[in-house]
Order: sequence, then structure tokens, then C-alpha cells
Amino acid sequence: MRLAGLFSRPPTGDPADAVPEEAEGPSVPEVSPTPEVPREPRMILAFANQKGGVAKTTSTLNLAVALSEEGYKVLIVDMDPQGNLTMSQGFNPDQIERSMFDVLVHRLPIDQVIQEAEVDLAVSSIDLAGAELALSSMIGRERALEKALSPIKERYDFILVDTPPSLGLLTINALVASSGVIVPVQCEYLSLRGLVQLENTLSMIRENLNPDVGIQGILPTMYDGRTLHAREAIEILQENFGDLVFQTRIKKTVRYAEAPVKGSSVLKYDPTGSAAAAYRELAKEVLNGAKARKHA
Ligand code: ADP
Ligand code: MG
Repeated sequence: MRLAGLFSRPPTGDPADAVPEEAEGPSVPEVSPTPEVPREPRMILAFANQKGGVAKTTSTLNLAVALSEEGYKVLIVDMDPQGNLTMSQGFNPDQIERSMFDVLVHRLPIDQVIQEAEVDLAVSSIDLAGAELALSSMIGRERALEKALSPIKERYDFILVDTPPSLGLLTINALVASSGVIVPVQCEYLSLRGLVQLENTLSMIRENLNPDVGIQGILPTMYDGRTLHAREAIEILQENFGDLVFQTRIKKTVRYAEAPVKGSSVLKYDPTGSAAAAYRELAKEVLNGAKARKHA
């Protein structure tokens, strides 16, 4: 299925649109109706959870590659000064001259920091650690990413944004630029308090900066179904968040740690393995869009 570029011609749903304007009058043969093509809205998704080590970066990369396998054009954006997403595609953040720091703070066009990798990647560098401070005194500080993406977003079907483990200005920029948030949670150390805090931040952003952003889905990660503890963690999540919890569970396996060492996604590193299959399943769930609603 090749759907890239589909969205440059937005559907209106108006049947009159099936007939070009010049096609008026009896002499012009009737235009056959356009075939039914599945059309998903373009999505900008942030991966957020202020807790570190919950698989935000792993999920950003592997979901992106799974979506690109389906034929979608995908951009991933590294908004974490630690640059793990950048590293996971084989780039060294210490040797990167221009990064998202320059984009956010100096308004460098984002094209200039996009590298070709398994999917397009807007790179981070250690400089990005200074962005929060540099942005804090700027007007429009929360909209720097939204502005940067605006001229290029038409080129992509999906833009996935990885965020640092905090709810600071870099994460806020990601939430303001996004239509939805995927929240990876580690089944072992479930922090519901952390999730409430994230929801409060999202409510504030909806009220003040981006009325459209909501939780796209909560993704249980590092799941070990053999332990009662992990099964209980899922139950607690479902009691609190209902069907916002994705059906896909990302199981615990060392494959996810091995792949980035080789500079590749798990889908490329072990294409037929169950770790790759899990993110393909997540891609299907995201494409179905069943989780696309706000959690009040
Ligand atoms: P975050 O971006 O939230 O800090 P990462 O994606 O960097 O989290 O993941 C933290 C560590 O856990 C990394 O070493 C990663 O390779 C590993 N990891 C990610 N997902 C899994 C998983 N499902 N099972 C086991 N290890 C995982
Ligand atoms: Mg990370």
C-alpha cells in the first residue's frame, strides 16, 4: 500500500468535487466517481512522559519505521538534548553542527537539520540543552517548533516528535505542535501520579495554546505477561484510562536495546522478530485512529 503524498490533495467529502469545474455542460462526458481510497488525517504526534526510560525514543523510531513500511512519508524530530533518537540512527550528536537548537532558537529552516535515515530525521545535539533557557525570554517561546514545522509539514503524512524526560519548554513545544500525544508507560514502575501531571499539563495547553491536542493513546511498554505485577499494571491503566490504552503491548526484550547500537530500528535489525511485529501492530492501531479523542 503506497499512500505517501495522498494528503496534498485534501478530500472535501463533497460529491461535487468529483467533477472538475470545467466539466459542466452536456458535451463533456461524465466523470466516473473517484475510487474509494482510505484517507487518514495528517498527524503530528508527540511521545511524552516526564519519566525517563519508558521507551519514548524506542517507540518514536520504531512506530515511524512501521508507518513508513506502510508507504507513509514520515519525519521524526529529536527534541531531547540527550540525542538518543539521533544516535539510534547512527549519528553522533557531539559531531552535529546544526541541530534543532538552531531551528528553535535561531529560526534556521528545519530542512537544514533533516538527515536521511530509515525515515527523515531532524537531529538533536547537546546544544539543545541550552534551548530551554534561550527560548524562555523569547516571545512565542512555546510555538517555536510549531512554526518550524509549518513550511514542511505538507510533505509528510506523519511527524513523530520525541521529547526529553521533563515537562519543560521543549516538551511543551512538542505538545503545542502536535495533534495527539502517545504516552509510553513502563508496566513495571507504573507512575499514575506522573500521568496525572502530564494530563494537567495537557489541559493547560488545550486551554491556552493548542485546543486540539489530546492523548492519542497510552502505550504499555516493557511488558512481561508472566508476572502478575505487569498484568496488574495494565489493569490499573485500563481502570483509569479505559480504551485510551492501546491494545498493543510492547513486550520486554533485549532486541530493543541491541538495535540502536547498530544504528537501526528493530524493524530493520530483526525484521521478522516479534519486537518488530509489535510496532507494526501499533502502527495499525494508530492508523485505525480508534484512540483519537481527548481524555477530559
Ligand atoms: P526513553 O526515551 O523514555 O528514556 P528509551 O526508548 O530510551 O526510553 O528506552 C530506555 C531503555 O530501555 C533503552 O536502553 C531501550 O533500548 C530499552 N528498551 C526500550 N523498550 C524496551 C522493551 N520493550 N524491552 C526492553 N528494553 C527496552
Ligand atoms: Mg528518550
